[in-house]
Amino acid sequence: MFTVGHERQKRFLQKAFLSGRIPSAFAFIGKEGIGKKLLALEFAKGLLCGKEPFGCGECKTCKQVDKFIKDLRGGEIETYAYYTSDEGGKKHLSYLIGEHPDLAVVIPDGNQIKIDQIRDIQDFVFLKPLGSSKVVVIDDAGKMNPQAQNALLKTLEEPPEGVLFILISTLKGELLPTILSRCQVLEFKALRGSQVEEILLRLKVTVPKALKEVLLAEGSLSALKLAQEEEISQLFTKLENVKNLTFAEIIDLAENFEGMETEVKETFLELLEKFLAKKTIKGEIPLETYERVERLIAETKRGLKRGVKGKLAMENILLTFKE
Ligand SMILES: [Zn+2]
Repeated sequence: MFTVGHERQKRFLQKAFLSGRIPSAFAFIGKEGIGKKLLALEFAKGLLCGKEPFGCGECKTCKQVDKFIKDLRGGEIETYAYYTSDEGGKKHLSYLIGEHPDLAVVIPDGNQIKIDQIRDIQDFVFLKPLGSSKVVVIDDAGKMNPQAQNALLKTLEEPPEGVLFILISTLKGELLPTILSRCQVLEFKALRGSQVEEILLRLKVTVPKALKEVLLAEGSLSALKLAQEEEISQLFTKLENVKNLTFAEIIDLAENFEGMETEVKETFLELLEKFLAKKTIKGEIPLETYERVERLIAETKRGLKRGVKGKLAMENILLTFKE
């Protein structure tokens, strides 16, 4: 299977599968980028396949779901997006659905999961499945607004036969207690460093050493997508040997930074903070430098909000590192 780590949770799901007593809803709780959604999709595959807890990998169902999983991981969302129109004729994203008709994934439409999306899912689960079960994965379930959560609650209170909901969320507190009480809650821990390494190997991606350290320290791959952005990756490669940068190179880097989109700048600064913390803990950066750079980063962030481009700020940060 694709999911690395989380052995305890896998065993739990395996047992549920083998005993045939599958709850009508799970809540997978834990930090971002550790594989909760992937495990949910792999378990969904198993249920639809029916032969193995996480799928046999050979049958048509498994192949269909595998393709769906692979494409979703690659960020290919639009291909699978199913849209409907509300009463006013306004089009909205309902959910994602792959070739297999019994698995749907709900993601936020914009920055929320709205009640219309839950209503669409209610229609979806009441349609007869192709096989014996149906699975709905609600990603970022904490983004369901209160109306959406209350609508979902009604379905969870009277779950249709053979339907499994898997809610994915970073914090328990993002979900209504009444929703949680209807779910079998599985809590997930951050990944170990060796597991992060294994995932990077499997994904065949290379990230600059400095960024890899950030991912390892986080025990999560949530920053991976950003780490793969060309501009960020380049800056981090340079940071590896910040001490040897010439003044001209520093100006060059600061200019690169200035040219980035504000969002990319903010992400870069966040990654930089994590990198800094990691280096300081390891004793590779003096505490004093850490504090000074931290202050500069905080100032730069505030400046970005006011529309400051940040070239000068980045020069300062790099020079402080170099001292
Ligand atoms: Zn199969």
